[in-house]
Amino acid sequence: MSSRRKFIKKAALGSVALSAFSACGVQASNATTAPKEAPIKTAKKPLIISTWNHGLAANQATWEALNAGKSGLTAIEKGLNISEADPKVRSVGYGGLPDREGKVTLDACIMDQNSDCGSVSFLQGIKHPISVAKKVLEETPHVMLSGQGALNFALSQGFKEENLLTPESEKAWKNWLEKSKYQPVINIENHDTISMLVIDKDGNLTGGCTTSGAAWKMHGRVGDSPIIGSGLFLDNEVGAAAATGLGEAVIRTAGSAMVVELMRQGLSPNEACKTIVERIYNKHKNHKDMPYLQVGFIAINKQGEYGGYSLRGGFNFAVCDADNGNRMEKPDFKMTWKDK
Ligand code: ASP
Repeated sequence: MSSRRKFIKKAALGSVALSAFSACGVQASNATTAPKEAPIKTAKKPLIISTWNHGLAANQATWEALNAGKSGLTAIEKGLNISEADPKVRSVGYGGLPDREGKVTLDACIMDQNSDCGSVSFLQGIKHPISVAKKVLEETPHVMLSGQGALNFALSQGFKEENLLTPESEKAWKNWLEKSKYQPVINIENHDTISMLVIDKDGNLTGGCTTSGAAWKMHGRVGDSPIIGSGLFLDNEVGAAAATGLGEAVIRTAGSAMVVELMRQGLSPNEACKTIVERIYNKHKNHKDMPYLQVGFIAINKQGEYGGYSLRGGFNFAVCDADNGNRMEKPDFKMTWKDK
């Protein structure tokens, strides 16, 4: 059994003996196809939702941090650090697939209930970009640091520089170089950017996301994930939203900010995510040339309703609450991978 699965199992078993608050054990996913209709789902607060299968282990760590009385920011950092450190997660942090020059470049951002935010983009050599983004929020007058400046800042804060390119990712890059054809790898291996949204027991929202971005991107490319309003957005009076998938498509619509604004106008999290996915679909006239076009959104509103929607099938997210534990859910989607 992998150490990550052991961790989840141990955490799940440990939670049985604890209070109802800590009953966020892992449940197997039973959803194999998208539901015909997406009912509005409400969960008891606190509630955590995270993109993709690796969201389960991240949710568990975030749940434990909340249970230990940590702030939403710290709880999100603890959760996302799990994916960042896992070399088997080839789309986040250590072990992430590199750009076309063989460099692992990382994007991350974090936002809290006061609309304070921190972000890093094009950061190299630091395993935990979400922790650096949190430091940007806490220690600087800025929102976003990039490239060498972000690295200098991280080093000044005590972060250690290290090689993030694992032998497996280096091998994958060398294979790619043989044809050097850019087709972003989306949905493969079922994990991409991890985006996480939390509503705590008092109803306050926090969000974060961290990624190594699109594999084989041009050196210097930054995706949606570190951009407040694109990869992540929240308004503590309304709700929170986050994205995964082709960053260029999400940026073109200011995706997460729009999902939150639609929830402000009264749409449910599901409906708001679906409306922006439809908008993204309509903005791209050349679907045939973009077989890799995939985006997925997750959202929570202030009432604790949550949902998601994706352009193509295959997207899933991890949901954790006291009543139903930590489980995978499959949202509805617009089209299959065969549709053009
Ligand atoms: N949104 C990320 C990016 O475009 C990648 C992903 O979520 O798959 O950088």
